Amino acid sequence: MVLQLFKKNRMWDKRPLKDRYQVVIIGGGVHGVSTAYYLTKLGIKDIAVLDKGYLGGGASARTTAIIRANYITAEGIPFFSESLKLYEGLATELNFNLLFNQMGRLDLGHTDAAVYGLRMRAGFNRLLGVDSRMVGPKEVKDLVPPIDLREGRPFPILGALYHPPCGVVRHDAVVWGFARGANNGGVELHPFTEVTGIDRTNGRVSGVETSRGFVQADTVLSATAGWSSTIAAMVDLELPLTTHPLEVMVTEPLKPFLHKTISSANLHAYVYQTDRGEVVIGGGVDPYQSYSQHSSLRPIEELAAHTLEMFPCMGQVKVLRQWSGLCDMSPDYAPIMGTVQGLDGFVLSCGWGSWGFKAAPAAGKSIAHLISTGETPDLIKPFALSRFHTGRLVNERAAAPAAAIH
Ligand SMILES: Cc1cc2nc3c(=O)[nH]c(=O)nc-3n(C[C@H](O)[C@H](O)[C@H](O)COP(=O)(O)OP(=O)(O)OC[C@H]3O[C@@H](n4cnc5c(N)ncnc54)[C@H](O)[C@@H]3O)c2cc1C
Repeated sequence: MVLQLFKKNRMWDKRPLKDRYQVVIIGGGVHGVSTAYYLTKLGIKDIAVLDKGYLGGGASARTTAIIRANYITAEGIPFFSESLKLYEGLATELNFNLLFNQMGRLDLGHTDAAVYGLRMRAGFNRLLGVDSRMVGPKEVKDLVPPIDLREGRPFPILGALYHPPCGVVRHDAVVWGFARGANNGGVELHPFTEVTGIDRTNGRVSGVETSRGFVQADTVLSATAGWSSTIAAMVDLELPLTTHPLEVMVTEPLKPFLHKTISSANLHAYVYQTDRGEVVIGGGVDPYQSYSQHSSLRPIEELAAHTLEMFPCMGQVKVLRQWSGLCDMSPDYAPIMGTVQGLDGFVLSCGWGSWGFKAAPAAGKSIAHLISTGETPDLIKPFALSRFHTGRLVNERAAAPAAAIH
């Protein structure tokens, strides 16, 4: 009886791996399962999502899950704004509590140049319908009472870009919600199934070699983030991506004292407090390339030092744990989405760097549309791989977690 109940309540079914699917998605992170979910909405159900580990165990398990739309470019703002809108309705759409807390965010400006950049961002954001405005030091203090304005010291807070709809979401709930929705729509989810090769016939992909045998497919989507280059190498494609670890940490739980997400590009740190009271602290990616997901002391020391510059009141707070994940960094801080010239049936969703969690609904929906119709939606056209040949780069300098335009 207990076993029966457990089986009935599983979030997704365990099914045998078939030898053919219409669509194979490599990678069961947030982008893989989101695309699978939106494909089912468009009537495509013969899909397998293959992951070499457990579902959502890559960067999607390690993300700090900040969702925002205050980007800087004419390409990035509409795309991330659409994704934020989809997040606002996602819990209802998936019938799953995602604990999406739209607490608002402040990007601090400590120099005249930084304030100039933030002002530009506020202007572009408002022009394109994103709620974002400049606030002075007094309003910063009103919004975040424990912050040290650093008056008379290096890097005083001269102003901030305030983005009220920015939120934080429960990351694994997003993956599980999409995965359950995809499963209910007929998608097969196959964790612990590694793709080891991709077969091609006459200039198009014909299937994937896996640790469980060969699987034929009309379309193969690579949604493998930090591992994207290894998948691309299977079709002799070199992507303009480098993989870097990003290290973050949380403190012991504290009484609620911080009700906004705070980011400082000059201090290379971003900070917010979770509903559990832990303070999440992150910054930029490690400067070296690696596939290692180990944590190290130096980034944590630096994050702690930089956080104390903003919040000296946290001097006695203990770090509870630290972790790292892989980021597939593109040279223009923008994603790569779409087909690959000369290789029919192969689709990319990568270049998600340290900013891709927030993009999953808009990217998944757009790529599902591309796969089902063969037409690339206008929203993602600027993010084609071909931009690295035409030179029309996006230069999305507001993408990184502690982003800056100087
Ligand atoms: C520490 C950290 C903090 C971050 N903070 C934010 C943030 O605040 N906001 C934000 O928007 N983004 C953030 N990001 C970025 C965001 O988490 C990622 O961009 C996003 O999760 C990528 O999702 P994905 O599905 O593309 O990749 P992943 O979640 O990495 O999934 C890829 C999957 O592919 C699988 N795979 C790889 N190779 C193979 C193979 N050969 N065969 C089968 N499966 C394979 C992996 O096992 C993995 O599960 C952060 C990232 C990190 C690491």
